[in-house]
Amino acid sequence: MCSFNFTDTANIGKAYKDFVLLAVDEIKDYKARGVYLRHKITGLEVYHIIKEDKENLFAYAFRTLDKTSRGVAHIMEHSVLCGSEKYPLKEPFITLASTSLNTFLNALTYPDKTVYPGASVVRADYFNMMDVYGDAVFFPKLDHATFIQEGHRLEMDENGKLSIQGVVYNEMKGNYSSFQPIAFSDLISAMFPDSYPAFDSGGDPLHIPELTYQEFLDFHQKYYSPDNCLLFLYGDIPTEKQLDFIDERFIGRLIKKYDCREGGAISNIDISSKLPVIKNEIKELQTLNFLKESTSIKTYAPETGSTGSFVSLNWYAGKADMEKLFLCEALCGNDSSPLARALKDSKLGDDVQFQSFGQFREEFFSAGLWGVKKGNEEKVFNLVEKTISEIYEKGVSQEDIDSAVMGIDFALREVNRYWGPFSIQLMEKALKGWCNGEACVAQLNPISSFEKVKEALRTDPDYTKKLIKKYFLDKEVSVRFVSEPSPEYFKERELAESALIEKLEESVDKTLLKKDLDELHAYQQHIETPAETACIPTTKISELDRQLDIPETSLEFVTGSDGADVPLFVSQEDTNGIFYIDVLFPFDCLEPQYVQHIPFLADVITNLGWSGKGWDKCTAQSSCVMGDVWGRTLCGAVNNVPQCIAEAEKYKQYNFCGRNWIGLICKALTERAEEALNMLAEIITRMDFDDEKHLETLIGELQAEKKNNIVNNGRDYASKRVRAAWSENLAINEIMWGVSQLNTVAAYKKHEAKKLLETFAYMYRECLKAGGIIHVTADEDSLKKLRPLLSEFAKKAGITKLLPGHKYTMDELSPYISQFDECCSDEVQLLKVSSQTGYAAAASPASPYLTKESAAEMIFTSWLSNHTLWDKIRTTGGAYGANCWVDSMERQILMSTYRDPTPEKSIDVYLQSLQDLCSTPIPQDEVEKTIVSTYGNAIVPVSPKDRGSRSFEGMLYGNPMKFRIQRVENILEVSEEDVEKACDRIFEAASKHCSKAVFCNKSAKSQKIAGNNIKIPL
Ligand SMILES: [Zn+2]
Repeated sequence: MCSFNFTDTANIGKAYKDFVLLAVDEIKDYKARGVYLRHKITGLEVYHIIKEDKENLFAYAFRTLDKTSRGVAHIMEHSVLCGSEKYPLKEPFITLASTSLNTFLNALTYPDKTVYPGASVVRADYFNMMDVYGDAVFFPKLDHATFIQEGHRLEMDENGKLSIQGVVYNEMKGNYSSFQPIAFSDLISAMFPDSYPAFDSGGDPLHIPELTYQEFLDFHQKYYSPDNCLLFLYGDIPTEKQLDFIDERFIGRLIKKYDCREGGAISNIDISSKLPVIKNEIKELQTLNFLKESTSIKTYAPETGSTGSFVSLNWYAGKADMEKLFLCEALCGNDSSPLARALKDSKLGDDVQFQSFGQFREEFFSAGLWGVKKGNEEKVFNLVEKTISEIYEKGVSQEDIDSAVMGIDFALREVNRYWGPFSIQLMEKALKGWCNGEACVAQLNPISSFEKVKEALRTDPDYTKKLIKKYFLDKEVSVRFVSEPSPEYFKERELAESALIEKLEESVDKTLLKKDLDELHAYQQHIETPAETACIPTTKISELDRQLDIPETSLEFVTGSDGADVPLFVSQEDTNGIFYIDVLFPFDCLEPQYVQHIPFLADVITNLGWSGKGWDKCTAQSSCVMGDVWGRTLCGAVNNVPQCIAEAEKYKQYNFCGRNWIGLICKALTERAEEALNMLAEIITRMDFDDEKHLETLIGELQAEKKNNIVNNGRDYASKRVRAAWSENLAINEIMWGVSQLNTVAAYKKHEAKKLLETFAYMYRECLKAGGIIHVTADEDSLKKLRPLLSEFAKKAGITKLLPGHKYTMDELSPYISQFDECCSDEVQLLKVSSQTGYAAAASPASPYLTKESAAEMIFTSWLSNHTLWDKIRTTGGAYGANCWVDSMERQILMSTYRDPTPEKSIDVYLQSLQDLCSTPIPQDEVEKTIVSTYGNAIVPVSPKDRGSRSFEGMLYGNPMKFRIQRVENILEVSEEDVEKACDRIFEAASKHCSKAVFCNKSAKSQKIAGNNIKIPL
């Protein structure tokens, strides 16, 4: 057997099983290679990034563009996952997600493409997912019931009253519920008139009902064909193995279904083109339209979450590249950058807007402000123009250039998992070129492209100036955009929705509708039997590799400024020449009335300047030396179980277990370690609390940000309310991050900035006096360099011996929880705002950490989330999500729903489901599958930084990583009987005590829900 060498350029033009090798790319920046292939008969294209990484990732991607806002691409994304030829289940996706060992599994609709990625560290599991996903995208059932369930339908209640329902319909209603996202999407529509970005690929609820079933089927036929499929692969599984798999499972079936023979629908595939082949009709849709001359545009968005208008000046920029990224960073990378500074100082708005919109083939720059008062719009436009001209005249300072370079260098080096594996980011970069007919590798070497920018900066002192001229001053077209909050927005949309329902009612055949709905409801109510779900391949418990990878943190000591030992926690991780350092001080030395101010103090701690230099100078200086520095908090308690108490006891003499902390975290390149540590010590010891004017600005920003995000964080607010009276730790959580914090923030007055600064100065000094600890995460080489520097650092930073702490009692904390009595009651707490969507939360008692009971409860709640709650609250109820989980640390079961049209009903559905499950236990093999997937969640890799912080934080709360392994071991032992008992226990506990909260629209309908109103300020 001779095997084909895919990375040998001599093989370019040759084929392996009809896959022609088109290119072999060097991807230096990520120490990887890329191979590009096209299948001769079907036209399917494959790009494999070959890299020594056992977490392999695949993604099926299709170019999907539409010039309507009917959301067809988004509805399709949901629908292909609702059953396919080989997997004729209701939802193979959810079955797969809940039984596989995936480290990532998702489906994503972009404006120009739809992508189905999956990742796993277990090869057999990887191929299982690839098979189920491939079958879903190419051979979905797409029956009528799926279309009306996921897309839209008229639903009739018991009185014959009609409403529009549908999973995507409801999801998008949530998207249309606050100011910011709507203002943004209107801006994009304005900039690319009549071309695809002008339409909402997710779907506008007022247009979704226009989509017909036939159009939906045609869309699949047109876009989900193999000659429009881009199969992205990443990791260490050999290309040959992957192609063998695709060939065996799909190629023959694809040739048949899509008619890929001589003279058929897909034939004459161009195998010579080294660049992606795009069908002409898709190419046409990809074309962007631009405004030909300078224009002023005004739109309206809902008041919810707004603090004034969004005003921005916009310029087209061409294709995305590092040059533009650099220019953005230099002008607006941090608060002290010249454009950001001018906009902030003007006080014309409360938040700066500056970015380049890079999600399209061509991007544009947008500069302006959020929260602009009516009448000030022109002033903002003039200010932006004037400032850019001035910056051009004066030139950008070396400091601003250095900090922009540092910021980008740092970002390019740091390996993170912002969402899913790092390889997702490589996938997005590859697809950007690939979808648009450029080489996949075009965007895959950003570090090398940035080197060119740095070279230009070195050789041409006027480089930045030239860029300003090129992208702003010389542009003939600039677009003045205003989006104004309108109190009428929701009313108008509600009227339009009623009109739409009326119109649909006229045209609908009610007998036919009833038949459709009966069919759908019967289909939804059908609970799949184990025999039916058995088609989804799974891993058995006995096949699991029980080796868990455990990050470790060691406890060392350095000498503090008082000569005492200061605890130094060291986590060695593969950080790629970067180090992270936390310096933490306990805030539990403060009187309880100060706890509410901790979040804002942590927020401003690095933003008020030090050594009398002024905040702007300090920000500029620190961003030249560090990747970033910011304030943080860390709260918790030692778990009240013997194992954790004993663990904490081991460190008793050092006083660091079970404390509440505030401090700073800094990340920097190890090559700049000395400067970075010196600066960090300076920040800590010489922090200023005297810039009233700047604090006023920060108060305004904080209030605007909290207000903007109330609806988005609705689930979080509801969850914190139901938990607040449970323990001191959760009470602190509510005070610091819940509705109570909203009250604290709303009470900050700009004219009282001076008083607040005094309070902050007092709090900060007291915390420092109580002593401190240091934590470092870095790679082996970095640690060699850092260890000797850290002793010096502890002295310079004035860190002293950690004094014993105080544990706040509920009596001390409760006065700072708004409407505390309501938190203690089992009556529903109602959080009413102006919103088109809702959230529900419920909490009831659970078993203690590390017990057999707690493990069984985890399996039970995980099964409940993926089956009953998914069926009843998501599929039937129309919510976007519903989830139930155990917090065994707090001995609590928490249920919450997300973007829920009827949150008040969901809590009843949940409690009823618990009762029902007591009499119909979960079958043995379902229990086993749930155990496997829960185990899968425990082995999801995390970023080097997070590995360091998790193991460090474990030590602070008597919960080392070894206990987490014990917990996983317990989970593997759970039996069917244990789960049955867990259900009985949970139901019984919840019947006695369950706190509930509902976050909902304050419109007339939900006005009728019985419960206690919780005041929401801002
Ligand atoms: Zn969706």
